[in-house]
Amino acid sequence: MKMKKKFRIVMLSSLLVTSSFYVLPGRVFEPGIAVATAENRQSKAAFDQKVIARISTEKMYKDAYFLSETIGPRVTGTEEEKYTAKFIKERLLSYGYEVEVQEFGIPDKTIGHLRTANGDEVLVTIPAGSAATADEGLAARLYDAGLGYPTDFNTESAGKIALILRGELTFQQKVENAYAAGAVAVLIYNNIDQASPLNPSIGENAPIPVGGITKLSGEALREEVLLKTETVTLNVKHIGNMTSQNIIAKRSPKKSGKHDILHVSAHYDSVPFAPGASDNASGTAVALEIARVLKSYPIEKELRFAFVGAEEIGLVGSRYYVSQLTADEIGRSIGNFNMDMVGTSWENATAIYMNTVDGKSNLVSQTAAETAARIATPSKLVLYQRGSSDHVSFHDVGIAAVNFIRREPGTANLEPYYHSPQDTIEHVSRERLKEAGNLVGSSVYNLIGK
Ligand SMILES: [Zn+2]
Repeated sequence: MKMKKKFRIVMLSSLLVTSSFYVLPGRVFEPGIAVATAENRQSKAAFDQKVIARISTEKMYKDAYFLSETIGPRVTGTEEEKYTAKFIKERLLSYGYEVEVQEFGIPDKTIGHLRTANGDEVLVTIPAGSAATADEGLAARLYDAGLGYPTDFNTESAGKIALILRGELTFQQKVENAYAAGAVAVLIYNNIDQASPLNPSIGENAPIPVGGITKLSGEALREEVLLKTETVTLNVKHIGNMTSQNIIAKRSPKKSGKHDILHVSAHYDSVPFAPGASDNASGTAVALEIARVLKSYPIEKELRFAFVGAEEIGLVGSRYYVSQLTADEIGRSIGNFNMDMVGTSWENATAIYMNTVDGKSNLVSQTAAETAARIATPSKLVLYQRGSSDHVSFHDVGIAAVNFIRREPGTANLEPYYHSPQDTIEHVSRERLKEAGNLVGSSVYNLIGK
């Protein structure tokens, strides 16, 4: 009788625990999760409450608002990214953390602006390989060059900026044909509606300045500017010796000696033209709030926060951070909680994906799964094989790493505002920021708390 009853209890609790999970074929969670002792669960629950009771939705939302609306796009290497880094540094110092600024070089850049005669700014992407203009920019009239075939040009195009529609020819061929016809620059507009301007790949060392613009802008320039024979001014600059920076905050246990290390990371840069409210002011704001809540709780492992720059140009900041860890530090590292896009309000993104590079669960995903069961996280947790964020840098040196990100269950789709001017605070959910703060904050504290 007794044996049977015990078996029933174990089975029941594992059913309870797993029922809220989204089980993907072949990615079922290890049963180990289900058998925590009552006492152990109580102490973990107590840790959870110490965190959950203090994670402030309004503080996270306010910080996400400040980064995305007040600062706006935080493109790596720009003043906006540096200003954000300073803001994060001062905030972490105010929490009493030991703070380090890690500066590192980033590839040279070509940036630019496009303005109409009445000063209106037209969103433009300057592809790598574009020629630069004089500092004051290049002001010229536009020439409608159709798709950019040689036959689309005539003597009229000399000394003008060729406005060329995307399609049929390669971008490079269009530029070569325009140059051959005496055009002084090229603007290529998209042939499909996209919020962000086109980024045409034109190869290296184009003979003239080149910009990519949206379909909407191209048609407007053709209708309004070209016909009125007004000029536009294109300004292209090559910028070298650019730097970005990581902001690192450390907290060590009182007891001296070497301790295990847990890394919490989030990138604070964004792509051009995107205010980056979801990507990634959301993750940055949640990580800042976890830092605030855990700033003085007793810990027995070392806690490090890495607010990394230059993620959008290839994980450059997190790769630099990891490259500065000694072999001993890597050996003592038990995990990385990375948060990237954890707060979208897109109704379809009802799941919190735990992306691991190899698709396997690890200490971080298991801890989060246990925590989610204990604190009854409303959203499903999905273990998923995916890189494309800073957890990759940790994984690549053997640290158990997970990227927490909101996606649509089943399709794994991201919100439609991703990497666009529509990635604004309107599309950030307070409830989901709180959910992420509770889940990751409690999981982290359960791993390092004393
Ligand atoms: Zn991101």
